[in-house]
Amino acid sequence: MPGGARAVLLCAVLLLGATCSEETSAERGPRPSLSPAEVEAAVTTGGIEEHLRALQKIADGNDGNRAAGTGGHWESVRYFRGRLKEAGYDVRLDYFTFPFFDVVKPGVLKIKGGPRFEEGTDHLAMIYSASGNVTGPLTPVAFDPEEAGHNGPGCSIEAFGDVEAGDVVLLRPGPCLFRDQVLNAQDAGAAAVLLSFPEFTEATGVLRPTLISPDEIAIPALSLTNEAGVALNAAGGLVTVRSEVINEQRMTPNLIAESKDGDADQIVMAGGHLDSVLDGPGINDNGSGTATLLEVAEEMAGMELDNKVRFAFWSAEEVGLLGSTHYVESLGSSLQDIAVYLNFDMVASPNYVRYVYDDTGAPEGSSVVRDFFKDYFALKDLPLEKIDIEGRSDHGPFLWNGIPIGGLFTGADMLKSPRERGLYGGTAGEYEDQCYHKACDDLGNVDETVLGEMAGAITSLLVELTTRGDPLN
Ligand SMILES: [Zn+2]
Repeated sequence: MPGGARAVLLCAVLLLGATCSEETSAERGPRPSLSPAEVEAAVTTGGIEEHLRALQKIADGNDGNRAAGTGGHWESVRYFRGRLKEAGYDVRLDYFTFPFFDVVKPGVLKIKGGPRFEEGTDHLAMIYSASGNVTGPLTPVAFDPEEAGHNGPGCSIEAFGDVEAGDVVLLRPGPCLFRDQVLNAQDAGAAAVLLSFPEFTEATGVLRPTLISPDEIAIPALSLTNEAGVALNAAGGLVTVRSEVINEQRMTPNLIAESKDGDADQIVMAGGHLDSVLDGPGINDNGSGTATLLEVAEEMAGMELDNKVRFAFWSAEEVGLLGSTHYVESLGSSLQDIAVYLNFDMVASPNYVRYVYDDTGAPEGSSVVRDFFKDYFALKDLPLEKIDIEGRSDHGPFLWNGIPIGGLFTGADMLKSPRERGLYGGTAGEYEDQCYHKACDDLGNVDETVLGEMAGAITSLLVELTTRGDPLN
């Protein structure tokens, strides 16, 4: 991007506690008209890392996270909004209310005479768990200590036939929504639910899955490591579960930035979520995607466009794609002006695999994006594979509404296979991102090489789609 704009912004960042650069107003001037090749050359890993450092600093000043509805997310929005405005985009905040969840006091899980369990290490309140303080008999429901997948019971209420009022139910995740399992257990009379995950063992610690909505959830629901679940199951007896949480409606914005130039009915849209989980700063997930898009946006601001480019920095993705869902639902017929939506969520995973979103079953036109990335990486002799992540990130609402989609991804909570180790290096048998949804998803959790490769591909695609008459032809 032009030096002038950056000079102003680096000083503006002072408000967030960063240092002011020595660039001066003398560098300000008319924006040069960059060629696509010049824009591609101008997008650098260094530029992206400047934004990642800003996001880390924001998290550091806000209890270590940037979750939707917290100060850390608001400051992230302020930083991005300032940079995008300065680069010359039309910027707006798209507000919506959403069910905010937070933990007031560390939860308690203990069993009489059994092992001790630590909040954060062994168990966490699931997002939208209710508060409660209950003691009841531990009641394993078809609990298999050897379970390796999501094959647990409770997807229908029949599974809880033996549960009595006041029982604390222990079970494995099933092939349905965790929400359904918890509500079915609750309907059967359970006083609390303990969901023990088989896969996320001590290698990554405990995760905090979402129950999607606090509606109807009236009992504490904790997620447990495999180890904690197996130990509880072996111990048996009376178990105490204490959970003190906030569930309340809060306002939060998506940040939308659009180019002034370009055809308004063939919009090329690219986005990623700017919120983190409650449990960490979210630098790979998804500082990496949003910082890359911001850097690309700043550099593209110097280029002439045939089609408008629109960038979205979503809120409340981590609690259930709420920002992108709100946006798509509120667009009405102008949704049809979006030619394609491109999603970038986690593009710097430390033990990475290069993935492109699979276009099988996706709206017509999606294959153009997949083919572009395939050719791009083939030319560079870099392996790339298709991944079917269905609607697990913010492209979901677009996909379900018939808008062509595409995206890149470098891996999260999957283990790297020996075959992938052969192709991409790294460590087989370890998670692609060991710090996924954890406090350690910080500046040290970024692979600069793959981040640079992804940024190059993203820039090349956006430059291409915004400078040809019909983006998908
Ligand atoms: Zn994410």
